[in-house]
Amino acid sequence: MTKDPIRSLRVQSGSALRLARHATDATLGWEKQSAKAELEKVKQRIDVLQARLAAEGSRGLLLVLQAMDAAGNDGTIRAIFSGVNPAGVKVTSFKVPGGPETQHDYLWRVHAAVPGKGEIGVFNRSHYEDVLVVRVKEFVPKSVWSKRFDHINAFERLLVDEGTTVVKVFLHVGKDEQRERLQERVDDPEKRWKFRAGDLDDRALWPKFQAAYQDAIRRTSTDAAPWYVVPADRNWVRNLAVAKILLHTLEDMNPQLPPPEDGIVGRIVE
Ligand code: ADP
Repeated sequence: MTKDPIRSLRVQSGSALRLARHATDATLGWEKQSAKAELEKVKQRIDVLQARLAAEGSRGLLLVLQAMDAAGNDGTIRAIFSGVNPAGVKVTSFKVPGGPETQHDYLWRVHAAVPGKGEIGVFNRSHYEDVLVVRVKEFVPKSVWSKRFDHINAFERLLVDEGTTVVKVFLHVGKDEQRERLQERVDDPEKRWKFRAGDLDDRALWPKFQAAYQDAIRRTSTDAAPWYVVPADRNWVRNLAVAKILLHTLEDMNPQLPPPEDGIVGRIVE
């Protein structure tokens, strides 16, 4: 048996991560056809464990997805959670803050969206935007964003201490692959709605975003709430990798079905 490649994607606490050294087009030793078949099996297993987590009703699981535009947050969520009971999964997409969100600290809207007991929550973007786009575009000064790594680590520690398992995934896409995907969005009428001119502004800031991601991941990958860097140029690799990260996390949680009421076992239902 070869070593599970998923382990190698995990960023150890205190590591000197160099994103540029992580290939975005890696296959992790997998092949496309068998990977697709395996994804189906992994999804079935996630479905079983999700049902147990819901039945247990005492802990939650938060999966944070962060990526450059077009790396595939949406596609990953669709690929992994189609087939999982939607009643137990809550997806929250974080956009530019508006309305009451602007009247509070940056974690206010995030805390409110954390999954409840028995739920799996998925963040499509997250509080990390507040040390990524906000930093790169200088929406707040360094004196403000630089304190946020400590807040985030403390916040995630709180979640973990109080029964929410936290796992964070960076979908690592290459610059060339992003160009192709953005071009496809421009060219394909079915995908054009996804394209914002602002995507090109962010693309022009690519090196600054990569540096901000690298810094954020280094400073917030903890034993309590680890980051995984997933190669995202190939959708089938990305989907299987994130599904396996989720499955391994659920397996580690090992949710237990509640015991039956007294006198139930062996009862005949007339
Ligand atoms: P998608 O997530 O599919 O790209 P949008 O095109 O609506 O959805 O993009 C959401 C935008 O909101 C992104 O540009 C992202 O950087 C921005 N955003 C999310 N959270 C924040 C935040 N806290 N501060 C500023 N911008 C944010």
